[in-house]
Amino acid sequence: MFRSAANVEELIRNFRIVAATTFRYSSFVPRLYNYVKSMGCEPGSILPSRAFCSDENQGYPIILITKHFGTFPFNLGRGGAVVATDRHGPYTEHGEVLTIIQASHVGYDADGNSFGTYNRIHTSNNRQTACCGKLAAITDWYLEQYRIARTDVLLERCNDQLCLRIDNGLLRGTRQEGLFLNMRRLVKRDADGNFTPTHTHSTSKSFLASSSLQHQLMHLEPELQNGRRIPIGEHLKPEMFYFRRHLDESVLGRDHMEMNLIYPMPWIVTSAWPALTAAQMNTQVEFDRTLRTISHAHSFHGKCLFYISGLNIDVSPQPGEIFPTTKFVPWAAFLKDRHGEKQILEQAELVAQLRQQSRENPDEVELDTAIRNMAEAKSVTITVPDIE
Ligand SMILES: [Zn+2]
Repeated sequence: MFRSAANVEELIRNFRIVAATTFRYSSFVPRLYNYVKSMGCEPGSILPSRAFCSDENQGYPIILITKHFGTFPFNLGRGGAVVATDRHGPYTEHGEVLTIIQASHVGYDADGNSFGTYNRIHTSNNRQTACCGKLAAITDWYLEQYRIARTDVLLERCNDQLCLRIDNGLLRGTRQEGLFLNMRRLVKRDADGNFTPTHTHSTSKSFLASSSLQHQLMHLEPELQNGRRIPIGEHLKPEMFYFRRHLDESVLGRDHMEMNLIYPMPWIVTSAWPALTAAQMNTQVEFDRTLRTISHAHSFHGKCLFYISGLNIDVSPQPGEIFPTTKFVPWAAFLKDRHGEKQILEQAELVAQLRQQSRENPDEVELDTAIRNMAEAKSVTITVPDIE
């Protein structure tokens, strides 16, 4: 999916998270239901499924899906909102019109205007923790590697030119894991085309900075007078490094989600909101991957499918509230009718289609009434036959 740095940057930029692309869940789900119904589907034949993370704060969207689609959604979700594409068979057997809703999630703190955490109201002191623990567990290691590298590369001036004093730990090519510098972006090659240090120190080496870096950091010249050195810090940009880590590369394996994120990880760790960028990227990678599995799965033949992918933004419950006020930002959708006609809707088109739909859903179920009816329905006696 990723071919270059420009490719990652464009994907991040194209996933627009602004008021115009954001829906309250209570508005999104009836619009989605009406849209699927408008494809010519019999209301009783639509079976939704959700590929959400297992976190408790994903319950409110599931309740709304149940209310508007009139059935509990099939579970296609694995931790972190990876789509359980190995469940296509059983899912497609259970309905004629299939609606997959996939969403990675991120917390939003309206007071601090920040992304990442969630107020756990069931803890003794209402602790703020990572909204998606699965995602935080993955990104923490990479954030730490990046934090170290920002201080282990120093800017200095030697022979009146910008130089980088790089810690030997970052230069050891025999490492199997860690943050690796993209030397061709950072360092000027010598006459033989090699990255040769200009000076070797006890625990580090100095290199002449590349022409582009000399140009980019020209404004720091006054700070580097009289032998002063400063950490590269935020000037260590995503295209200047990459990560390596031993991972289980199998699809839906132990490290599936981390495999989704390791290539774009430099953009995640340098983002103002790493949890937001990581959730966004996971949604984009999963949409692309899942689409391919649907195209190849025979079980979808002869079925109608609407597959929508996006981001759940969980706004913590306020005092007295039971649920988060979750918002949904659509990323893309895929439609397939019974005859196999296919269409992909990119974000702008998808948002426009959803906005055209009514928020009113005449088919929505009164859950309290439905639950009371089930409690009062004639009880069936369970009889276990005698086993000889
Ligand atoms: Zn989660």
